Amino acid sequence: MNRESMLRQLQQTSQWDILIIGGGATGLGAAVDAASRGYKTLLIEQHDFGKGTSSRSTKLVHGGVRYLEQGNLKLVKEALRERGYLLRNAPHLTRVQPFILPLYSWWQKWYYAVGLKLYDLLAGKLSLGKTRVLSKKETLERLASVQQDRLAGSVLYFDGQFDDSRLCIDLAITATRQGGTLLNYCAATGFEKNAKKKINAVKLVDTLTGTNYTVSVKAVINATGVFTDAVLQMDDHIKHEIVSPSQGIHLVIERQLFPGTDAMIIPKTDDGRVLFAVPWHEHVILGTTDTPVETVSTEPKPLEEEIEFILAHINRYSTIPVSRSDVKTVFAGLRPLVRVSGPKRTALLSRDHTLIVSPSGLVTITGGKWTTYRKMAADAVDNAVFVTKQEKRDCLTKDLAIGNRVERQSRLEVIIRNSIDADKPLHAGFEYRWADVLYAIRFEMAQSIEDILARRTRILFLDAKLAVTLAPAVSHLLMSELGKDEQWRQDQLLSFETLAKQYILA
Ligand SMILES: Cc1cc2nc3c(=O)[nH]c(=O)nc-3n(C[C@H](O)[C@H](O)[C@H](O)COP(=O)(O)OP(=O)(O)OC[C@H]3O[C@@H](n4cnc5c(N)ncnc54)[C@H](O)[C@@H]3O)c2cc1C
Repeated sequence: MNRESMLRQLQQTSQWDILIIGGGATGLGAAVDAASRGYKTLLIEQHDFGKGTSSRSTKLVHGGVRYLEQGNLKLVKEALRERGYLLRNAPHLTRVQPFILPLYSWWQKWYYAVGLKLYDLLAGKLSLGKTRVLSKKETLERLASVQQDRLAGSVLYFDGQFDDSRLCIDLAITATRQGGTLLNYCAATGFEKNAKKKINAVKLVDTLTGTNYTVSVKAVINATGVFTDAVLQMDDHIKHEIVSPSQGIHLVIERQLFPGTDAMIIPKTDDGRVLFAVPWHEHVILGTTDTPVETVSTEPKPLEEEIEFILAHINRYSTIPVSRSDVKTVFAGLRPLVRVSGPKRTALLSRDHTLIVSPSGLVTITGGKWTTYRKMAADAVDNAVFVTKQEKRDCLTKDLAIGNRVERQSRLEVIIRNSIDADKPLHAGFEYRWADVLYAIRFEMAQSIEDILARRTRILFLDAKLAVTLAPAVSHLLMSELGKDEQWRQDQLLSFETLAKQYILA
């Protein structure tokens, strides 16, 4: 995958069957879906692939234990099915994660045991392991730091865990392998319509060069997450309020503060939700929150009360104290929840997805979860094809392998053979090597320090101060690989350091 060749394809194609706006989970899923069905597919992302919500999740491939408690069996069942497909199609980016739910009364223990047995049953053949009730002793053996005062035992169940932005990149690679054209740093700025007021062209800008394009299209999918309303407005000039953004933050700590390989789920927070502590890349992610917000941004800011909320809850359930100074990174994301009349609290809004077809033919898909991205993508493509009267073709993604592990392996071997130091780790204790950085620049369309340290590797999301110390070396590699000058490198460093400050808890 190479940005220059993508730009060439953009210029050489006279008309696209399907153009997708937005390079998060939903849009990238739609690109894989449309390209694999043989439609001439273009995806554009205004920033980098996964820059939005799709790199800021709790990293769970799950049916949603909380939605089970709300009685939404249809949503849970669909998500459990999708969980199974994703673990099968992207085994290199997903894994089965045991979860322990500590309980402090006998009735609670049996209540949750029955619920989680049902969760397992709903997964059917795609179950990831049998739910079991654990005694207090067994719980402490597995979750050494759990608060043991009045502990009645726990319930052990299994869900999936993944690397969200890596999956974005591998979905992008899969889409290009299926013949799709994908461009990061390319924003949709407007639509053109025919005499029947149907969209027939999209205006784009390459945000790296400022070059404008107008491309001819048959169908357009709006998969822009919390930016959905802005794209709808671009279409009909009416102010929309479909999305009700809800912020969730995560704190990342070192493994020794929450030892072991099991995740913990706190069954009821003070605002009636669940909270997770999940091992991830040799660290532990604590989260999340659910805070309605008025404004949307690609770089949302964690609120002080959200940080305190997570620290208070983890310290209530874990005996190893966690303080602000232990936090290696804090990151925030915005849920694109769909507004309905009724609930005022975003925690009560549906996690199901919504599809809207505008009079112009624009197909908007939003809401949902990372776990259900494939189903959302299939629904969006089905509708886009139907609305624009294109030839109907079957969806192929249920069994489609994601990524290009064999090619990656052989290319990395060549990089390591030809580049001094490429085999060295970026930092002791981290799995990433300098070869991964070179690979990201050459074959994964990484254009900036942030692309490399936030989304191709996850160092900004694991240890923000470490990311700052690695930035100069990364900037030198980028400068020479992309043929940039010293001024560009200095600007890159400055903008990365400014960004990283938001991820560091003062
Ligand atoms: C805190 C939190 C935790 C979560 N945890 C989980 C979890 O553990 N498991 C799970 O299944 N789900 C989880 N989710 C939900 C999941 O992350 C989201 O549902 C999913 O990432 C949404 O993807 P998306 O593609 O719709 O949106 P996004 O990822 O936001 O992508 C939309 C993209 O559109 C781009 N865009 C906008 N306007 C334009 C334009 N004009 N031109 C070009 N591009 C444009 C944006 O830059 C953005 O990258 C979580 C969400 C949050 C907030």
